[in-house]
Amino acid sequence: MSRNAVNVVERLQQAGYQAFAVGGCVRDLLLDLEPKDFDVATSATPEQVRATFRNARLIGRRFKLVHVHFGREIIEVATFRASHADEGEDSPPQDSENARQSESGRLLRDNVYGTLEQDAQRRDFTINSLYYDVRTGNIHDFAHGLHDIRNRQVRLIGDPVQRYLEDPVRMLRAVRFAAKLDFEIEQHSAAPLIEMADLLHDIPAARLFDEVLKLLLSGKGEETFELLCRYDLFAPLFPDTDEALEHNADYTLRLIRQALRNTDERIRQQRPVTPAFLFAALLWPALPERIRELEHRGVPSVPAQQQAAQELLAEQCRHTAIPKRFSIPLREIWDLQPRLERRSGRRADQMLEHPRFRAAYDFLLLREGAGEDTGGLGAWWTTYQDASENKRREMIRELADGPATSKRPRNRRKRKPRAQAD
Ligand code: ATP
Ligand code: MG
Repeated sequence: MSRNAVNVVERLQQAGYQAFAVGGCVRDLLLDLEPKDFDVATSATPEQVRATFRNARLIGRRFKLVHVHFGREIIEVATFRASHADEGEDSPPQDSENARQSESGRLLRDNVYGTLEQDAQRRDFTINSLYYDVRTGNIHDFAHGLHDIRNRQVRLIGDPVQRYLEDPVRMLRAVRFAAKLDFEIEQHSAAPLIEMADLLHDIPAARLFDEVLKLLLSGKGEETFELLCRYDLFAPLFPDTDEALEHNADYTLRLIRQALRNTDERIRQQRPVTPAFLFAALLWPALPERIRELEHRGVPSVPAQQQAAQELLAEQCRHTAIPKRFSIPLREIWDLQPRLERRSGRRADQMLEHPRFRAAYDFLLLREGAGEDTGGLGAWWTTYQDASENKRREMIRELADGPATSKRPRNRRKRKPRAQAD
């Protein structure tokens, strides 16, 4: 357990509230995994929590909670909540300040506080509904989460259809935990997924972006992608890429799988990964179709590429809002692809100096790995980077003369246009 989480629980208890470690940290510790973060559940209201700690901040509107900061670690403290059905008949949720639902039953605001037992029932999955009392060492298990941990099942609490209607993001969470923990999605929880996948279109794009990062950048990206596809959950997140998966399945699948495999491997080695690179890869296969459409309408090739990239990103942001700090480097990685071909004079050396060269080069290798024919461009850059100054000059000279294989085809090429011109 994180010392800070224990500290938060104990301080709340000393102040007279109930408090437990809950959610992913209890689940992961039981499975011998290292928790990503620590969540605390308490009977104290967010205001009371904030008053208990100096370093605490209220956050969220749809779901109010308190972040208690300890340097870089944040302990997330949530007040026990009741499900909306638990409320008295006198207070219809739609009218309330604290609880609002859309027509489909989606929870637009979820701030009706309740008891520990009620809180256990409103959590998403049984395995996420375990409450650990750090003082006694007891675990409260109102939803049979321990049973499902033993049997490696991701099971929604309550009626799956209703729980997905309340919050469609739970569909993504089901897939995420199944991949992360190597669990099965229990059959009743899995059954409605395909039918309900389109509900994700109603979720704010900023929330979906966060969720996509958790899905694809937590070390099990490749498996998660397969599960998303199996349950039709990929299409509402990346509709353009989904079309490419239909029209150009082999290439698109190879590229995405390889990108995710590389990402997973980097995470395993604790090397940095960036959403910019991953999104560049996920969306790349959708570009040609848009370029073709624009060219078909008479837009010349180079502006068509620029416009297609811009339109594709704008469209994608309607589904997963990519922040500028990622979309700008993403565009650079794309824009550098054709520039990697232009190597004459000092251009290749200037390219090496470009802050985004490394990402662009990795991206080129990824494209080639997926089967794109670039005429050996990746291998050329691999050699060039490690070559001596003399060797580099020679490589550039050879470029001017055509492909650096042998002399004969080079000469043939040179003569041909002249002969035709004659
Ligand atoms: P991890 O932190 O490893 O990604 P987690 O289970 O801790 O997984 P969080 O997003 O940190 O997930 O949420 C903490 C807890 O809050 C969950 O374990 C769950 O009990 C509850 N929770 C989170 N999101 C939802 C939701 N959409 N619906 C119901 N309960 C939720
Ligand atoms: Mg958590």
